[in-house]
Amino acid sequence: MRTERKAPPAALLVRAVNWLGDAVLTTPALGAVREAYPSARIVLAARPLVAELFRHHPDVDGVLVYDKAERHSGAAGMLRMASELRRERFDAALLFQNAFDAALLAFLAGVPERMGYATDGRRLLLTRAIPVAEETRRLHHAEYYLRLVSGLGIPLPASPRMRLGVTREETDAMEERLASLGIPKGKRVLGINPGATYGSAKRWFPDRFASVADALSEEWGASVVLMGSAPERPLAEEIEAAMRGKPVNLAGRTSVRELMSLLSRCSFLVTNDSGPMHIAAALGVPLAAIFGPTDWRTTSPWTGNARIVRVGVDCSPCMLRECDRGHECMSGVTAEMVVAAARELFPESPREAG
Ligand code: SF4
Repeated sequence: MRTERKAPPAALLVRAVNWLGDAVLTTPALGAVREAYPSARIVLAARPLVAELFRHHPDVDGVLVYDKAERHSGAAGMLRMASELRRERFDAALLFQNAFDAALLAFLAGVPERMGYATDGRRLLLTRAIPVAEETRRLHHAEYYLRLVSGLGIPLPASPRMRLGVTREETDAMEERLASLGIPKGKRVLGINPGATYGSAKRWFPDRFASVADALSEEWGASVVLMGSAPERPLAEEIEAAMRGKPVNLAGRTSVRELMSLLSRCSFLVTNDSGPMHIAAALGVPLAAIFGPTDWRTTSPWTGNARIVRVGVDCSPCMLRECDRGHECMSGVTAEMVVAAARELFPESPREAG
């Protein structure tokens, strides 16, 4: 269903989704909103990590942190957040997040126009509810969010694209940090991202990441940087121990903003299906992504600059966090397959400077 486009809002609240990767996939739709409302004050409300992702984003004027673990926990916390939002005097709210909670919060904040998909029993809380057809659910997530804004009557750009903002100061600071760790400015960086927050089923094996890192870094004359969250540091240490070469291991040692500047410095990334995979894709970094239990049709990196490496097993996509079979979707992916995917993108070698 397509609803009539109304007068542009002067102040628009955008409720972000909660996962980093999905949040990146909302950026083409966010870009369409910015283009349609160039003079609106667009403010994003997001959980703490996603709020970091959108700091310095060119399409938003501000970010409000919705911290359900601390300041905004429980019913009292939600009322506190509603009162913080009320002070901003938004005249419309666009909900990328599908949960009932997102609509209730906008309602409690007194936002007169509340727009989003009619999901999670929240239709009555929305003033403009877009029905979700079966075919819409099967769309790639980036297109799913674009479908929402076009359903609201917002025109889509001819070539919607993902966008993230990293400042010059941030890239300079990362350049200096890498230089202090032995990677000079201009040297090719091969990023290895072996984690995946969702669960172990999405993780390929450390010894195979190590083989790929050695093969590509030797072939391309690149320095290897291992990355990931603090709980993923043991995985990165396993890779480090299994490699012939000596990587720089920054797993557990970067904030979201530092991870973004590190990814923007990479010439190539080898990764599981994860938030950093989508961040890299949005930053224009070429990559090879290993997919197993998740649906490559709906959550692949939304770029032509990536190769997906996967094997066809009957049980995939299962969306399980932990595999209860033989994990063949991952064991079937060899190091040679990933190296071949990288070579397909770069028969010579990737660009030198990050
Ligand atoms: S059940 Fe199948 S698709 Fe799912 S993790 Fe296990 S092997 Fe992979």
